[in-house]
Amino acid sequence: MTVCFFGCDYKYETEAVLKQFLPLESFGFEYGSVPDGDHIIISVSGDVLEAEVSVGGRIVKKNSVHSDEYTDEAELSRMLFKSLSEITGITPKWGCLTGIRPVRKINALSAKGLDKSGIFAEMKKSYFTSDEKLELAYLTSVTQKKALDELGSGTYSLYIAIPFCPSRCRYCSFVSHSIASEKARALIPQYTEKLCGELEAISSTAEKLGLVLDTIYIGGGTPTAMPAGELEKIMKKTAECFDISRVREYTAEAGRADSIDEEKLEVIKKYGATRISVNPQTMIDSVLAAAGREHTAEQFVKCFELARSMGFDNINTDVIAGLPTDTAEGFRYTIDALADMSPEAVTVHTLTVKRSADLFSESDKMRDEVSPETVDDMVSYAFRKLTAENYSPYYLYRQKNTVGNLENVGYARAGYESLYNIYIMEEIQSILAAGASASTKLVGHGRIKRVMNYKYPYEYIKGFDEMIRRKSEITDFFREEKL
Ligand code: SF4
Repeated sequence: MTVCFFGCDYKYETEAVLKQFLPLESFGFEYGSVPDGDHIIISVSGDVLEAEVSVGGRIVKKNSVHSDEYTDEAELSRMLFKSLSEITGITPKWGCLTGIRPVRKINALSAKGLDKSGIFAEMKKSYFTSDEKLELAYLTSVTQKKALDELGSGTYSLYIAIPFCPSRCRYCSFVSHSIASEKARALIPQYTEKLCGELEAISSTAEKLGLVLDTIYIGGGTPTAMPAGELEKIMKKTAECFDISRVREYTAEAGRADSIDEEKLEVIKKYGATRISVNPQTMIDSVLAAAGREHTAEQFVKCFELARSMGFDNINTDVIAGLPTDTAEGFRYTIDALADMSPEAVTVHTLTVKRSADLFSESDKMRDEVSPETVDDMVSYAFRKLTAENYSPYYLYRQKNTVGNLENVGYARAGYESLYNIYIMEEIQSILAAGASASTKLVGHGRIKRVMNYKYPYEYIKGFDEMIRRKSEITDFFREEKL
Protein backbone atom coordinates (compact mmCIF):
# COMPACT_ATOMS: atom_id res chain seq x y z
CA MET A 1 0.00 0.00 0.00
CA THR A 2 1.36 3.41 -0.99
CA VAL A 3 0.34 6.66 0.66
CA CYS A 4 0.63 9.77 -1.52
CA PHE A 5 0.73 13.27 -0.07
CA PHE A 6 -0.13 16.47 -1.90
CA GLY A 7 0.54 19.74 -0.06
CA CYS A 8 1.07 18.04 3.31
CA ASP A 9 3.00 15.32 5.12
CA TYR A 10 0.99 13.43 7.74
CA LYS A 11 3.01 10.24 7.59
CA TYR A 12 2.86 9.44 11.30
CA GLU A 13 -0.92 9.90 11.65
CA THR A 14 -1.68 8.00 8.45
CA GLU A 15 0.52 5.06 9.35
CA ALA A 16 -0.94 4.87 12.88
CA VAL A 17 -4.50 4.52 11.52
CA LEU A 18 -3.48 2.12 8.73
CA LYS A 19 -1.81 -0.17 11.29
CA GLN A 20 -5.22 -0.63 12.93
CA PHE A 21 -6.46 -2.31 9.76
CA LEU A 22 -3.27 -3.82 8.34
CA PRO A 23 -1.04 -4.46 11.40
CA LEU A 24 1.68 -6.48 9.71
CA GLU A 25 1.94 -4.59 6.43
CA SER A 26 4.61 -2.03 5.56
CA PHE A 27 3.67 1.13 3.71
CA GLY A 28 5.40 3.21 1.04
CA PHE A 29 5.14 7.00 0.94
CA GLU A 30 5.25 9.27 -2.09
CA TYR A 31 4.95 13.02 -2.52
CA GLY A 32 3.23 14.63 -5.50
CA SER A 33 2.57 11.46 -7.56
CA VAL A 34 0.25 8.43 -7.47
CA PRO A 35 1.39 4.87 -8.39
CA ASP A 36 -0.74 2.10 -9.90
CA GLY A 37 -2.39 -0.30 -7.49
CA ASP A 38 -3.79 0.16 -3.96
CA HIS A 39 -3.11 3.62 -2.62
CA ILE A 40 -4.26 6.41 -0.36
CA ILE A 41 -4.15 10.05 -1.44
CA ILE A 42 -4.02 12.74 1.24
CA SER A 43 -4.19 16.33 0.06
CA VAL A 44 -4.54 19.75 1.58
CA SER A 45 -5.66 22.67 -0.53
CA GLY A 46 -6.48 25.91 1.27
CA ASP A 47 -8.90 25.02 4.07
CA VAL A 48 -9.89 21.67 2.55
CA LEU A 49 -8.43 18.34 3.66
CA GLU A 50 -9.14 15.35 1.41
CA ALA A 51 -8.54 11.61 1.79
CA GLU A 52 -9.07 9.07 -0.99
CA VAL A 53 -8.67 5.37 -0.20
CA SER A 54 -8.41 3.01 -3.17
CA VAL A 55 -8.23 -0.73 -2.42
CA GLY A 56 -8.92 -3.57 -4.87
CA GLY A 57 -10.69 -1.20 -7.27
CA ARG A 58 -13.01 0.21 -4.57
CA ILE A 59 -12.62 3.92 -3.89
CA VAL A 60 -13.90 5.91 -0.91
CA LYS A 61 -13.33 9.68 -0.79
CA LYS A 62 -13.91 11.99 2.15
CA ASN A 63 -13.17 15.64 2.73
CA SER A 64 -13.50 18.19 5.46
CA VAL A 65 -13.13 21.93 5.83
CA HIS A 66 -10.70 23.06 8.51
CA SER A 67 -12.44 23.99 11.78
CA ASP A 68 -11.24 24.78 15.29
CA GLU A 69 -12.78 21.60 16.75
CA TYR A 70 -10.15 19.15 15.49
CA THR A 71 -6.60 19.61 14.27
CA ASP A 72 -5.98 18.60 10.66
CA GLU A 73 -4.11 15.53 11.95
CA ALA A 74 -7.10 14.45 14.08
CA GLU A 75 -9.56 15.11 11.27
CA LEU A 76 -7.41 13.10 8.87
CA SER A 77 -7.35 10.15 11.31
CA ARG A 78 -11.13 10.29 11.56
CA MET A 79 -11.64 10.39 7.77
CA LEU A 80 -9.18 7.56 7.17
CA PHE A 81 -10.75 5.43 9.87
CA LYS A 82 -14.22 5.84 8.38
CA SER A 83 -13.00 5.19 4.83
CA LEU A 84 -11.01 2.08 5.76
CA SER A 85 -13.95 0.75 7.83
CA GLU A 86 -16.25 1.14 4.82
CA ILE A 87 -13.83 -0.59 2.47
CA THR A 88 -12.68 -3.44 4.72
CA GLY A 89 -15.89 -3.99 6.70
CA ILE A 90 -13.73 -3.95 9.85
CA THR A 91 -14.43 -1.57 12.74
CA PRO A 92 -11.55 -1.72 15.23
CA LYS A 93 -12.96 -1.38 18.75
CA TRP A 94 -10.52 1.33 19.81
CA GLY A 95 -11.70 3.48 16.89
CA CYS A 96 -9.12 5.92 15.55
CA LEU A 97 -7.53 6.26 18.99
CA THR A 98 -4.01 5.17 18.16
CA GLY A 99 -1.78 6.04 21.15
CA ILE A 100 -0.42 3.44 23.50
CA ARG A 101 -2.00 5.00 26.61
CA PRO A 102 -5.77 5.36 26.08
CA VAL A 103 -6.40 5.81 29.81
CA ARG A 104 -4.63 9.16 29.69
CA LYS A 105 -7.40 10.53 27.49
CA ILE A 106 -9.97 9.39 30.06
CA ASN A 107 -7.95 10.90 32.93
CA ALA A 108 -7.65 14.19 31.06
CA LEU A 109 -11.41 14.40 30.40
CA SER A 110 -12.13 13.47 34.00
CA ALA A 111 -9.77 16.25 35.17
CA LYS A 112 -11.86 18.68 33.09
CA GLY A 113 -14.86 17.71 35.23
CA LEU A 114 -16.68 15.35 32.82
CA ASP A 115 -18.59 12.46 34.37
CA LYS A 116 -18.67 8.93 32.93
CA SER A 117 -21.41 9.63 30.36
CA GLY A 118 -19.74 12.89 29.32
CA ILE A 119 -16.41 11.10 28.86
CA PHE A 120 -18.02 8.32 26.81
CA ALA A 121 -19.85 10.84 24.60
CA GLU A 122 -16.67 12.83 23.98
CA MET A 123 -14.56 9.73 23.19
CA LYS A 124 -17.18 8.33 20.80
CA LYS A 125 -17.49 11.64 19.00
CA SER A 126 -13.76 12.21 18.63
CA TYR A 127 -12.42 8.67 18.19
CA PHE A 128 -15.39 6.35 17.48
CA THR A 129 -14.26 4.14 20.38
CA SER A 130 -16.63 1.27 21.24
CA ASP A 131 -18.55 1.04 24.54
CA GLU A 132 -16.62 -2.12 25.44
CA LYS A 133 -13.21 -0.44 25.25
CA LEU A 134 -14.48 2.73 26.91
CA GLU A 135 -15.78 0.67 29.82
CA LEU A 136 -12.38 -1.03 30.14
CA ALA A 137 -10.42 2.24 29.97
CA TYR A 138 -12.81 4.04 32.33
CA LEU A 139 -12.66 1.29 34.96
CA THR A 140 -8.86 1.30 34.69
CA SER A 141 -8.82 5.05 35.24
CA VAL A 142 -11.02 4.73 38.34
CA THR A 143 -8.95 1.87 39.79
CA GLN A 144 -5.57 3.54 39.37
CA LYS A 145 -6.65 6.93 40.76
CA LYS A 146 -5.70 6.11 44.35
CA ALA A 147 -2.17 5.05 43.34
CA LEU A 148 -1.76 8.21 41.26
CA ASP A 149 -2.99 10.40 44.12
CA GLU A 150 -0.66 8.74 46.63
CA LEU A 151 2.54 9.23 44.64
CA GLY A 152 4.97 11.29 46.70
CA SER A 153 7.30 13.89 45.17
CA GLY A 154 11.04 13.25 45.16
CA THR A 155 10.54 9.49 44.82
CA TYR A 156 11.79 7.06 42.19
CA SER A 157 11.51 3.42 41.19
CA LEU A 158 14.41 1.06 40.62
CA TYR A 159 14.37 -1.46 37.75
CA ILE A 160 16.88 -4.31 37.65
CA ALA A 161 17.18 -6.25 34.38
CA ILE A 162 18.19 -9.90 34.26
CA PRO A 163 18.36 -10.72 30.54
CA PHE A 164 18.60 -14.51 30.82
CA CYS A 165 15.94 -17.20 30.34
CA PRO A 166 15.90 -21.00 30.59
CA SER A 167 15.31 -21.12 26.80
CA ARG A 168 13.83 -18.75 24.24
CA CYS A 169 10.06 -18.68 23.70
CA ARG A 170 9.12 -18.51 20.03
CA TYR A 171 7.13 -15.29 20.40
CA CYS A 172 9.85 -13.52 22.40
CA SER A 173 11.03 -10.12 21.18
CA PHE A 174 12.97 -9.14 24.33
CA VAL A 175 16.69 -9.01 24.75
CA SER A 176 17.13 -12.26 26.58
CA HIS A 177 19.76 -14.95 26.32
CA SER A 178 18.89 -18.61 26.69
CA ILE A 179 21.08 -20.15 29.36
CA ALA A 180 20.76 -23.42 27.44
CA SER A 181 23.79 -22.03 25.61
CA GLU A 182 27.17 -22.52 27.29
CA LYS A 183 28.31 -19.10 26.02
CA ALA A 184 25.39 -17.29 27.71
CA ARG A 185 25.86 -19.24 30.96
CA ALA A 186 29.50 -18.27 31.06
CA LEU A 187 28.54 -14.56 31.09
CA ILE A 188 26.40 -14.78 34.23
CA PRO A 189 29.10 -14.33 36.96
CA GLN A 190 30.60 -11.30 35.20
CA TYR A 191 27.15 -9.91 34.54
CA THR A 192 26.27 -10.20 38.23
CA GLU A 193 29.47 -8.43 39.24
CA LYS A 194 28.87 -5.50 36.86
CA LEU A 195 25.20 -5.28 37.80
CA CYS A 196 26.14 -5.01 41.48
CA GLY A 197 28.59 -2.24 40.53
CA GLU A 198 25.83 -0.37 38.71
CA LEU A 199 23.49 -0.71 41.69
CA GLU A 200 26.16 0.95 43.85
CA ALA A 201 26.49 3.79 41.33
CA ILE A 202 22.71 4.33 41.18
CA SER A 203 22.42 4.28 44.96
CA SER A 204 25.15 6.89 45.34
CA THR A 205 23.60 9.14 42.64
CA ALA A 206 20.12 8.88 44.20
CA GLU A 207 21.50 9.60 47.66
CA LYS A 208 23.32 12.73 46.50
CA LEU A 209 20.13 13.98 44.87
CA GLY A 210 18.09 13.24 48.00
CA LEU A 211 15.72 10.90 46.15
CA VAL A 212 13.58 8.39 48.02
CA LEU A 213 13.24 4.86 46.63
CA ASP A 214 9.55 3.97 46.28
CA THR A 215 9.28 0.69 44.32
CA ILE A 216 11.67 -1.98 43.02
CA TYR A 217 11.08 -4.30 40.07
CA ILE A 218 13.43 -7.12 39.15
CA GLY A 219 12.45 -8.19 35.66
CA GLY A 220 13.88 -9.73 32.56
CA GLY A 221 14.19 -12.09 30.94
CA THR A 222 13.54 -14.41 33.79
CA PRO A 223 15.38 -13.45 37.02
CA THR A 224 14.97 -16.98 38.38
CA ALA A 225 16.87 -18.34 35.37
CA MET A 226 19.95 -17.21 37.32
CA PRO A 227 21.52 -19.76 39.67
CA ALA A 228 20.27 -19.11 43.24
CA GLY A 229 23.73 -17.92 44.34
CA GLU A 230 23.92 -15.24 41.61
CA LEU A 231 20.36 -14.08 42.29
CA GLU A 232 21.29 -13.84 45.97
CA LYS A 233 24.32 -11.63 45.21
CA ILE A 234 22.12 -9.19 43.27
CA MET A 235 19.34 -9.06 45.86
CA LYS A 236 21.82 -8.81 48.74
CA LYS A 237 23.58 -5.90 47.03
CA THR A 238 20.19 -4.23 46.49
CA ALA A 239 19.38 -4.59 50.19
CA GLU A 240 22.79 -3.15 51.14
CA CYS A 241 22.65 -0.19 48.76
CA PHE A 242 19.04 0.91 49.21
CA ASP A 243 16.69 1.53 52.13
CA ILE A 244 14.25 -1.31 51.53
CA SER A 245 12.29 -0.47 54.69
CA ARG A 246 10.71 2.59 52.99
CA VAL A 247 9.94 0.79 49.73
CA ARG A 248 6.19 0.45 49.16
CA GLU A 249 6.41 -2.39 46.61
CA TYR A 250 9.16 -4.86 45.75
CA THR A 251 8.51 -7.21 42.83
CA ALA A 252 10.68 -10.05 41.58
CA GLU A 253 9.54 -11.77 38.43
CA ALA A 254 9.88 -15.49 38.88
CA GLY A 255 8.47 -16.03 35.41
CA ARG A 256 8.71 -19.46 33.93
CA ALA A 257 7.94 -22.56 35.95
CA ASP A 258 11.01 -24.34 34.56
CA SER A 259 13.22 -21.79 36.36
CA ILE A 260 11.60 -21.75 39.81
CA ASP A 261 12.57 -23.79 42.84
CA GLU A 262 12.35 -23.46 46.61
CA GLU A 263 15.91 -22.18 46.99
CA LYS A 264 15.33 -19.25 44.61
CA LEU A 265 11.99 -18.37 46.19
CA GLU A 266 13.77 -18.40 49.59
CA VAL A 267 16.30 -15.88 48.24
CA ILE A 268 13.50 -13.64 46.92
CA LYS A 269 11.74 -13.75 50.29
CA LYS A 270 14.89 -13.31 52.39
CA TYR A 271 15.89 -10.07 50.68
CA GLY A 272 12.54 -8.38 50.92
CA ALA A 273 10.57 -8.88 47.69
CA THR A 274 6.89 -9.17 48.54
CA ARG A 275 5.32 -9.43 45.09
CA ILE A 276 6.21 -12.14 42.58
CA SER A 277 5.05 -13.03 39.13
CA VAL A 278 4.65 -16.67 38.12
CA ASN A 279 3.56 -16.83 34.51
CA PRO A 280 1.76 -19.73 32.86
CA GLN A 281 0.87 -17.77 29.63
CA THR A 282 -1.60 -20.58 28.94
CA MET A 283 -2.86 -23.60 30.88
CA ILE A 284 -2.90 -25.81 27.77
CA ASP A 285 0.22 -28.00 27.43
CA SER A 286 0.06 -28.25 23.63
CA VAL A 287 -0.08 -24.43 23.36
CA LEU A 288 2.87 -24.12 25.74
CA ALA A 289 4.81 -26.53 23.52
CA ALA A 290 3.85 -24.60 20.36
CA ALA A 291 5.06 -21.39 22.04
CA GLY A 292 8.41 -22.99 22.83
CA ARG A 293 7.95 -22.86 26.59
CA GLU A 294 9.56 -25.87 28.14
CA HIS A 295 7.20 -26.41 31.06
CA THR A 296 3.73 -27.79 31.57
CA ALA A 297 0.62 -26.32 33.16
CA GLU A 298 1.05 -28.78 36.02
CA GLN A 299 4.57 -27.45 36.70
CA PHE A 300 3.12 -23.94 36.85
CA VAL A 301 0.47 -25.07 39.37
CA LYS A 302 3.15 -26.71 41.52
CA CYS A 303 5.29 -23.53 41.50
CA PHE A 304 2.28 -21.42 42.38
CA GLU A 305 1.38 -23.74 45.27
CA LEU A 306 4.99 -23.81 46.44
CA ALA A 307 5.10 -20.00 46.51
CA ARG A 308 1.80 -19.90 48.41
CA SER A 309 3.06 -22.47 50.93
CA MET A 310 6.13 -20.29 51.50
CA GLY A 311 3.95 -17.31 52.38
CA PHE A 312 3.89 -15.30 49.14
CA ASP A 313 0.56 -13.51 49.37
CA ASN A 314 0.88 -11.21 46.36
CA ILE A 315 1.27 -13.26 43.19
CA ASN A 316 0.69 -12.04 39.66
CA THR A 317 0.14 -14.44 36.77
CA ASP A 318 0.65 -13.47 33.11
CA VAL A 319 -1.33 -14.95 30.21
CA ILE A 320 -1.19 -14.27 26.47
CA ALA A 321 -4.22 -14.13 24.18
CA GLY A 322 -3.49 -15.27 20.63
CA LEU A 323 -0.73 -17.84 21.09
CA PRO A 324 -0.44 -20.08 18.03
CA THR A 325 -2.73 -23.13 18.17
CA ASP A 326 -4.76 -21.70 21.06
CA THR A 327 -8.54 -21.47 20.68
CA ALA A 328 -11.26 -19.37 22.28
CA GLU A 329 -12.25 -22.41 24.36
CA GLY A 330 -8.64 -23.05 25.36
CA PHE A 331 -8.17 -19.47 26.45
CA ARG A 332 -11.39 -19.54 28.45
CA TYR A 333 -10.17 -22.68 30.16
CA THR A 334 -6.90 -20.87 31.03
CA ILE A 335 -8.70 -17.85 32.51
CA ASP A 336 -11.17 -20.05 34.43
CA ALA A 337 -8.36 -22.22 35.81
CA LEU A 338 -6.42 -19.16 36.96
CA ALA A 339 -9.50 -17.58 38.54
CA ASP A 340 -9.98 -20.83 40.50
CA MET A 341 -6.40 -20.53 41.81
CA SER A 342 -7.17 -16.99 42.97
CA PRO A 343 -3.89 -15.14 42.37
CA GLU A 344 -3.90 -11.52 43.51
CA ALA A 345 -3.39 -10.31 39.93
CA VAL A 346 -3.77 -11.57 36.37
CA THR A 347 -2.13 -9.72 33.48
CA VAL A 348 -3.65 -10.40 30.08
CA HIS A 349 -1.36 -9.63 27.13
CA THR A 350 -2.27 -9.80 23.48
CA LEU A 351 0.33 -11.58 21.37
CA THR A 352 2.69 -9.15 19.70
CA VAL A 353 4.55 -10.26 16.62
CA LYS A 354 7.83 -8.42 16.20
CA ARG A 355 10.66 -8.92 13.77
CA SER A 356 12.97 -10.14 16.52
CA ALA A 357 10.60 -13.01 17.40
CA ASP A 358 11.05 -16.41 15.77
CA LEU A 359 7.33 -16.39 15.04
CA PHE A 360 7.61 -13.36 12.77
CA SER A 361 8.69 -15.41 9.80
CA GLU A 362 5.59 -17.53 10.33
CA SER A 363 3.27 -14.63 11.02
CA ASP A 364 0.92 -15.32 8.13
CA LYS A 365 0.56 -18.90 9.22
CA MET A 366 0.03 -17.72 12.75
CA ARG A 367 -2.67 -15.32 11.68
CA ASP A 368 -4.45 -18.23 10.02
CA GLU A 369 -4.28 -20.13 13.26
CA VAL A 370 -5.58 -17.45 15.61
CA SER A 371 -7.77 -14.89 13.90
CA PRO A 372 -8.15 -11.33 15.21
CA GLU A 373 -11.82 -12.16 15.89
CA THR A 374 -10.81 -15.08 18.12
CA VAL A 375 -8.29 -12.93 20.00
CA ASP A 376 -10.97 -10.29 20.42
CA ASP A 377 -13.24 -12.96 21.86
CA MET A 378 -10.43 -14.03 24.23
CA VAL A 379 -9.71 -10.58 25.68
CA SER A 380 -13.43 -9.81 25.98
CA TYR A 381 -13.91 -13.03 27.93
CA ALA A 382 -10.99 -12.20 30.21
CA PHE A 383 -12.59 -8.84 31.01
CA ARG A 384 -16.00 -10.36 31.75
CA LYS A 385 -14.73 -13.29 33.80
CA LEU A 386 -12.09 -11.45 35.79
CA THR A 387 -14.28 -8.47 36.66
CA ALA A 388 -16.98 -10.96 37.75
CA GLU A 389 -14.35 -12.56 40.04
CA ASN A 390 -13.59 -9.21 41.73
CA TYR A 391 -10.52 -8.28 39.74
CA SER A 392 -10.38 -4.74 38.35
CA PRO A 393 -8.32 -3.50 35.43
CA TYR A 394 -5.69 -1.13 36.84
CA TYR A 395 -3.25 -0.55 34.02
CA LEU A 396 -3.62 -0.78 30.31
CA TYR A 397 -1.48 -0.17 27.28
CA ARG A 398 -1.51 -0.87 23.58
CA GLN A 399 1.41 -1.93 21.41
CA LYS A 400 2.03 -1.94 17.71
CA ASN A 401 1.64 -5.26 15.88
CA THR A 402 -0.65 -6.93 18.37
CA VAL A 403 -3.06 -9.42 16.87
CA GLY A 404 -6.36 -7.60 16.36
CA ASN A 405 -4.84 -4.29 17.55
CA LEU A 406 -5.88 -5.15 21.04
CA GLU A 407 -4.46 -4.25 24.42
CA ASN A 408 -2.53 -5.52 27.42
CA VAL A 409 -4.37 -5.22 30.72
CA GLY A 410 -3.30 -5.74 34.32
CA TYR A 411 -6.18 -6.92 36.51
CA ALA A 412 -5.84 -7.05 40.29
CA ARG A 413 -7.88 -7.60 43.40
CA ALA A 414 -8.39 -4.41 45.45
CA GLY A 415 -5.17 -3.36 47.18
CA TYR A 416 -2.92 -5.48 44.95
CA GLU A 417 -2.57 -3.10 41.99
CA SER A 418 1.13 -2.86 41.09
CA LEU A 419 2.32 0.69 41.72
CA TYR A 420 5.36 0.19 39.47
CA ASN A 421 3.17 -0.80 36.53
CA ILE A 422 0.87 2.19 36.99
CA TYR A 423 3.69 4.71 37.36
CA ILE A 424 5.70 3.42 34.41
CA MET A 425 2.65 3.50 32.19
CA GLU A 426 1.53 6.96 33.21
CA GLU A 427 5.14 8.25 33.09
CA ILE A 428 4.80 10.16 36.32
CA GLN A 429 7.79 8.84 38.28
CA SER A 430 11.46 8.53 37.33
CA ILE A 431 12.82 5.03 36.97
CA LEU A 432 16.52 4.46 37.53
CA ALA A 433 17.38 1.25 35.73
CA ALA A 434 20.28 -1.18 36.00
CA GLY A 435 21.34 -4.01 33.73
CA ALA A 436 21.66 -4.82 30.04
CA SER A 437 18.97 -3.24 27.84
CA ALA A 438 17.61 -1.28 30.80
CA SER A 439 16.41 2.24 30.12
CA THR A 440 16.51 4.90 32.81
CA LYS A 441 13.51 7.19 32.39
CA LEU A 442 13.76 10.62 33.98
CA VAL A 443 10.50 12.49 34.47
CA GLY A 444 10.72 16.26 34.82
CA HIS A 445 8.29 19.15 34.51
CA GLY A 446 6.72 18.19 31.20
CA ARG A 447 9.99 16.69 29.97
CA ILE A 448 11.07 13.04 29.78
CA LYS A 449 14.63 11.96 29.16
CA ARG A 450 15.93 8.44 28.63
CA VAL A 451 19.41 7.19 29.42
CA MET A 452 20.00 3.84 27.76
CA ASN A 453 22.25 1.04 28.93
CA TYR A 454 24.02 -1.24 26.50
CA LYS A 455 21.62 -3.77 25.03
CA TYR A 456 23.29 -7.17 25.23
CA PRO A 457 25.05 -8.68 28.28
CA TYR A 458 28.47 -8.89 26.57
CA GLU A 459 28.25 -5.20 25.51
CA TYR A 460 27.10 -4.28 28.99
CA ILE A 461 30.09 -6.01 30.55
CA LYS A 462 32.55 -4.56 28.02
CA GLY A 463 31.17 -1.01 28.03
CA PHE A 464 30.53 -0.83 31.76
CA ASP A 465 32.77 2.19 32.51
CA GLU A 466 31.19 4.26 29.74
CA MET A 467 27.75 3.33 31.01
CA ILE A 468 28.59 4.41 34.55
CA ARG A 469 29.91 7.68 33.13
CA ARG A 470 26.48 8.24 31.55
CA LYS A 471 24.96 8.20 35.04
CA SER A 472 26.06 11.85 35.35
CA GLU A 473 23.17 12.63 32.98
CA ILE A 474 20.80 11.71 35.82
CA THR A 475 22.32 14.35 38.10
CA ASP A 476 22.33 16.94 35.29
CA PHE A 477 18.67 16.28 34.56
CA PHE A 478 17.48 16.62 38.16
CA ARG A 479 19.50 19.85 38.56
CA GLU A 480 18.21 21.34 35.29
CA GLU A 481 14.63 20.48 36.23
CA LYS A 482 15.15 21.70 39.82
CA LEU A 483 13.56 18.53 41.15
S1 SF4 B 1 10.30 -16.03 29.33
FE1 SF4 B 1 9.82 -14.01 28.48
S2 SF4 B 1 11.80 -12.99 28.17
FE2 SF4 B 1 12.18 -15.21 28.41
S3 SF4 B 1 12.26 -16.05 26.36
FE3 SF4 B 1 10.15 -16.29 27.10
S4 SF4 B 1 9.09 -14.42 26.41
FE4 SF4 B 1 11.29 -14.03 26.24
